[in-house]
Amino acid sequence: MQLRYQFRVYPTPGQQIDLARAFGCARVVFNDGLRLRQQAHEAGEKYISDGELSRRLITQAKLTPQRAWLSEVSAVVLQQALADLNTAYRNFFASITGKRKGRKVAPPRFRSRKDNRQAIRFTKNSRFRVLDNGRLRLPKIGDLQVRWSRTLPSDPSSVAIIRDAAGRYFASFVVQTTEDESLPPVAFEVGIDLGLTHFAVMSDGTKVAAPKFLRRAARKLKRLQQDLSRKQRGSQNRKKAVVKVARAHARVADTRRDWQHKLSTTLIRENQAIYVEDLCVVGLGRTRLAKSVHDAGWTSFTGMLEYKAARYGRAFGRVDRFFPSTRMCSACGRINEKMALNVRAWDCPCGAAHDRDVNAAINVRAAGQADLNARGAHVRPGLIPAARNEAGTHPDAACPTRSVAGISVL
Ligand SMILES: [Zn+2]
Repeated sequence: MQLRYQFRVYPTPGQQIDLARAFGCARVVFNDGLRLRQQAHEAGEKYISDGELSRRLITQAKLTPQRAWLSEVSAVVLQQALADLNTAYRNFFASITGKRKGRKVAPPRFRSRKDNRQAIRFTKNSRFRVLDNGRLRLPKIGDLQVRWSRTLPSDPSSVAIIRDAAGRYFASFVVQTTEDESLPPVAFEVGIDLGLTHFAVMSDGTKVAAPKFLRRAARKLKRLQQDLSRKQRGSQNRKKAVVKVARAHARVADTRRDWQHKLSTTLIRENQAIYVEDLCVVGLGRTRLAKSVHDAGWTSFTGMLEYKAARYGRAFGRVDRFFPSTRMCSACGRINEKMALNVRAWDCPCGAAHDRDVNAAINVRAAGQADLNARGAHVRPGLIPAARNEAGTHPDAACPTRSVAGISVL
């Protein structure tokens, strides 16, 4: 399977200028491609093929005075920008024709210099290389200083250079692993209810709250955001406040990622199968709960569970989000009345007394197990998406109006 390894890099001021140029060129080529395809679509012409797009927007465009400067950056960076666009289109088409399960994928959108995250990608063809002195050599950029926090297990097939909103740079390597990392089998299976009072509640009754340090950092971020809103537009002070907010934001995100990594690794080690509810966070995002939902970061957490399960030979399943996990009695199966959010415990007419979230987690586990058994014959290990993709799609932009029954993975 493919794994992604990310490290902080420290470009010199000169290299930062070269990187900014490469980000800009990649963005221009991506946007040119999107515009051409949109225009062709509006004119009723047929879809412009990947090869044709590359020929017109890279090879031919470099010969024109308007786009001659594209020659200043590695051609691979430009090809990869178009590859992102092509992937975004393919995902979008697969989604509208129903070939792609799960959430709806929005059509590709234009990239902006104001996007929080700027990225370019180098593949093997570009001859990027990790030097003996530990520096990362990139064509037309130079040798970047890297902070190696761990060693790469094998030769990377590609590297993306990313600049985040806080102005930090990262190198994200994709590495193909062939060795079997499956963990020894265990007997436990767990269902997880992701909630707002607790970050996660397990079917065995364990409740996990978001740690205090994370909540404290989130409060600090909120205060900085308020400071920012009081600064005058266009002022120097506002610029400083923007950077402060971005840094605080990056810190919260990093801290949360570390914490989620620990929790997801523990769950994967201790359980043979893990089932979660297929949450539509965007759906919730329109409600009053929006803020806390986005802060909770369930999407990244379930994503970690999914790729770690694939990597370590565990089963992972998402359960239909319209399944009434909360009000169904896990003892007798009766579906009871809807409950207000503040009802934390309830009794079923069958005599069972339930903790709301634990009962839901038990139901999630049962539904996940049933679905996995029903599909057991079709389980094909190895068809696993990479942990995160660099393509220019925005899967969060849309949400299915119908649910996809059962488990979307395996
Ligand atoms: Zn009951």
